[in-house]
Amino acid sequence: MFHLTFHGGAGEIGGNKILLEYGGARTYLDFGQSFDFGKDYFLDWLKPGAANGLECYFEFGLLPKIPRLYSEKALEFTDLPYAEPDIDAVFISHHHSDHVGTLEFLDESIPIHMGHGTKAVLDAYSTLYPGLVDIGDHVALQTFKSGDRIKVKNLTFWPIHVEHSAPGAYGYIIEGPEGTIVYTGDFRRHGPMKAFTEEFIAEAAKAKPRVLLCEGTRMTPDPENHDTEEEVHDKILEIMKKARGLVLAEFSMCNIDRFNSFYRAAQETGRTMVVDTKYAYLLDRLNEIIPSVPDPRTNAGLKVYFKLAKTREFAETDYKKFEREYLDNRITFEEIRKNQKKFVMVTGFNKLMELVYIHPDEANYIYSQSEHYLEGEDNKDQHQVLENWLQHFGIHFHKAHCSGHAGRSDLEYTVSQIKPKTLIPIHTDHPEEFKKIHDDVRIVKKGETVTF
Ligand SMILES: [Zn+2]
Ligand SMILES: [Zn+2]
Repeated sequence: MFHLTFHGGAGEIGGNKILLEYGGARTYLDFGQSFDFGKDYFLDWLKPGAANGLECYFEFGLLPKIPRLYSEKALEFTDLPYAEPDIDAVFISHHHSDHVGTLEFLDESIPIHMGHGTKAVLDAYSTLYPGLVDIGDHVALQTFKSGDRIKVKNLTFWPIHVEHSAPGAYGYIIEGPEGTIVYTGDFRRHGPMKAFTEEFIAEAAKAKPRVLLCEGTRMTPDPENHDTEEEVHDKILEIMKKARGLVLAEFSMCNIDRFNSFYRAAQETGRTMVVDTKYAYLLDRLNEIIPSVPDPRTNAGLKVYFKLAKTREFAETDYKKFEREYLDNRITFEEIRKNQKKFVMVTGFNKLMELVYIHPDEANYIYSQSEHYLEGEDNKDQHQVLENWLQHFGIHFHKAHCSGHAGRSDLEYTVSQIKPKTLIPIHTDHPEEFKKIHDDVRIVKKGETVTF
């Protein structure tokens, strides 16, 4: 017999926190933060700070009061007494906050397992954004590679890489005494790394799972957008071919597949890709484990943009230690201004100020991430300001994007290949849609325990 308790990831997209009690072990699959986490109580500067523990979250029922799970420090001002943890391990699928966002509260001694790519991204982020990304100090954190087998009591966790809009994403095949459980994490199969997902699906199918926990972000009744990463690349390439000035690119920082789509198109049109020092640092950390990621110190097709700083002379002392590493491969606004059609510059809302120095002439802006940021009611002001900037400099605006999640037909394919006995939809707003593609679908609610 085994039990699955959904402390998050059921009835919502994200926030995966799934307790698996099986084979004498108590383990969690991910420990993420829900996307709507705290939105009713916290806003802008009104949010818990570094000194606050779980008291602010328990107050509003934002995290479950589970004994023997959280750290002594996190529980200090709460009415939940600290006790030694009874959790044998936490397995992380990938670095997105809806999968790791509340790890910081867990007891430091609980073993955490994550892919080496996941760890590299999280390390880079916590160096670059210390106040924003913090998974806590976990003394028993271990990294794995795809295909490793990790024993926890009578269970074997077998992580296999999947393609997602994040490097180092994994699904799990969990073998136990009374059958196998498969957990997809977040995945897609319409990009350059789709072979990863195929490998995962093939192994999961061979395992003949009792239960499949399948993400369903895009399992909606709406018509599907079938765009692939290759089509996004082609669209970007067309825009670059026609562009007579600077090309500005906005996309999610950790979406390395998207970076590569821009980078390839830049190479195909004889342009140089320009990233800021933070992006260079991320590429540098990833280059250590993914050789196809360009080295920001030496790559000729890639330049690192240095902003004007105090001395206005690009002196070494003007920049942080991590930035200095890239000074030799630097580019400044002056070079870009002189020869605008030679460059593709990775930008974003908070980097627009550089345009004042670059004076873009006939530039194109390619918006290449979820439209949620453009269309959301909360981002109305930001959207208007972006529009004002584009209009002021006469910049042409384009969109080119595809999702990091599998579409409906790919979810259907995945389920039909893996053929689980029971399918549990997670990470979805439309679990009932899965009933149309599988006979034995169990819809679960947040907080619910199901037993097999
Ligand atoms: Zn997710
Ligand atoms: Zn994700």
